[in-house]
Amino acid sequence: MSQYDVAVIGSGPGGYVAAIRCAQLGMKTAIIEKYSTLGGTCLNVGCIPSKALLDSSHHYEDAIKHFDAHGIEIPGEVKVNLEKMIARKQAVVDQTTKGIEFLMDKNKIDVFQGIGSFEDATHVKISKNDGSTEVIEAKNSIIATGSKPSTLPFIKIDKERIITSTEALKLKEVPKHLVVIGGGVIGLELGQVYKRLGAEVTVVEYMDRIIPTMDASLSKELTKVMKKQKVKFNLSHKVKSVERVGDEVIVKADDKKGQEVEIKGDYCLVSVGRRPYTDGLNAEAAGVKIDGRGKIEVDEHLRTSAANIYAIGDVIRGAMLAHKAEEEGVLVAEQLAGQQPHIDYNLIPGVVYTWPEVASVGKTEEELKEAGIAYKTGQFPMRALGRSRASMDLDGFVKILADKETDEVLGVHMIGARCADLIAEAVTAMEFRASAEDISRMSHAHPTFAEAVKEAALAATDDRALHV
Ligand code: FAD
Ligand code: NAD
Repeated sequence: MSQYDVAVIGSGPGGYVAAIRCAQLGMKTAIIEKYSTLGGTCLNVGCIPSKALLDSSHHYEDAIKHFDAHGIEIPGEVKVNLEKMIARKQAVVDQTTKGIEFLMDKNKIDVFQGIGSFEDATHVKISKNDGSTEVIEAKNSIIATGSKPSTLPFIKIDKERIITSTEALKLKEVPKHLVVIGGGVIGLELGQVYKRLGAEVTVVEYMDRIIPTMDASLSKELTKVMKKQKVKFNLSHKVKSVERVGDEVIVKADDKKGQEVEIKGDYCLVSVGRRPYTDGLNAEAAGVKIDGRGKIEVDEHLRTSAANIYAIGDVIRGAMLAHKAEEEGVLVAEQLAGQQPHIDYNLIPGVVYTWPEVASVGKTEEELKEAGIAYKTGQFPMRALGRSRASMDLDGFVKILADKETDEVLGVHMIGARCADLIAEAVTAMEFRASAEDISRMSHAHPTFAEAVKEAALAATDDRALHV
C-alpha cells in the first residue's frame, strides 16, 4: 500500500494549490480527482471558461457596436460562429488543465484518477473508472471536493433547456430569450455573454437588488448599465415554477405585491447559488462532521472534527471563490509543516466580470452602518478620467470608505473598466492598513483607470479630488 504524508481529495484551485505547497514543503503528496482532467470547477466549468466566453462576446460586441466610433469599418456583416467560440473556450480550458498536470509532475505529486472515499481517518480508497480500487495510507488528508450548482426544489434541471452554468458554457445555439433565475455572479456574467451574442435576457431575482451581497451602490450602478445594455430585470420576484413545454420554458414568479408574472423563453439558466459537494466521500467513516447545510465543519485552523483531516474551499464556510480556496490550501499545507500562517477573510476581494467589471474588498457601507462604525466616503466617477474617455469606457466609479477618526481604509468598492485588476491596489493598501491619505499621496501613472483610486482617496481624505 502506498503511503503519503498528505492525500488531497479534489483537484480544484483549493486542492491542487494545497498539493503543490505540501510538496514544496517536503511532504510526500497524493492528489485524487474523480474526473479525467485536473483543475476542478474553476478550470473546467467555472472561472476560466466563463472568462473565455466573456472575452469572446466582448470582442463581438465591440465589433458591432463600438468599432464604428473608433473609425473602424467592417465591410459586410459581422457574425457569431458559436461553435468556434465554444471550441476556443474549450481549447483555453484544455491548455489550462494540462498546465496543472505539468505542475503536479514538476512537484512530484502522485495523481490518482477516481473517486476518493474514506475507509477510516488514515486510509483513502480510490474507485477508478475501470471498476478497480486502490487504497492509500495518508497521515493527513485535505478535503477539497468543492461544490455543485444548487437549484430550487420544484425545478427539474433537464440540462437542455433548463440549465445550470455548466451547460450554459457549451450551448449549441444562441438563445432567443434566456431567462436567468438569480441575479448573482453567474447569472449576470453568463447573462451578459448571451445578451452580447444577441439573446434577449431577463433576470429574475428574489431580492430587491442584483449582486445583493455587495455594496448597494454597485448593485445600483450595474443595474443601470445593464439596463442600458437592454437586459431586463424582475427584482423582488419569487420564482414558483419552471416548466418546459417543447422548446419553450415558462417561468412563473410572484412579484412583491403577490401578483403572478409569467415569463416565456427558450432557455432558463438556474443560477441561485452552489452547494458544497461531499457525495461519495464517506466522510463519516473518518469521523468528519458535515453540518446541516452540507458543509464540512472546520475550526479556525480548517481542521475538521477528525484531528488529521482538514477541509478547504467551496466545501466549507465562506465565499465560494477560487482565490479563497487557494489561500486556504496554502494555509493548511504551511500549518502541516509547522508554520503559523494566517488568512484575513475581510481582505478576500470579490469580482464580477461583467463589463463594466465590479470589484470589492473590505466592508460595505451597509455593514459599517450595521456595526455602528463612523466612516467617511470618497467617490470618483470613471467618466472624469482621460483614460476612460480615450477608450469610451465611461460608466462606473471608485468608492473608498475610510474610518472617520483614523482615516484607515475600511472598504473599497468599484465598478468600471478593468476593476477586476484595479482591486489589487485596494487589497494591498488594506493589508498594510493604509489610510485614504496614504493612497492619495501615491503616484498613479497617467493616464490610467487606476487614477480613479487615487482620486477617490483624495475625495475621502478631505473632499479634495482634483479632477471633478
Ligand atoms: P472545485 O473547483 O469545485 O474542485 C473540486 C474538485 O473535487 C472537482 O474537480 C471534483 O471533481 C473533485 N471531487 C469531488 N469529490 C471528489 C471525490 N470524492 N474524489 C475525487 N475527487 C472529487 N471563482 C472565482 O474566484 N472567480 C471566478 O471568476 C469564478 N467564476 C466562476 C464561474 C462559474 C460558472 C462557476 C460555476 C464558478 C466560478 N467561480 C469563480 C467559483 C470557483 O470555481 C470555485 O470557488 C472554486 O472552483 C472552488 O475551488 P475548490 O477547490 O474548493 O473546488
Ligand atoms: P450567487 O450566490 O452569486 O447568486 C445567487 C442569486 O440568486 C442571489 O442574488 C440570490 O438572491 C438569488 N436567488 C436565490 N434564490 C432565488 C430564487 N428562489 N429566485 C430568484 N433568485 C434567487 O450564486 P451564483 O451566481 O449561482 O454563483 C455561485 C457561486 O459561484 C457564488 O458563490 C460565486 O461566488 C461563485 N462564482 C464566482 C464568480 C466570480 O468570482 N466572478 C463567478 C461565478 C460564480
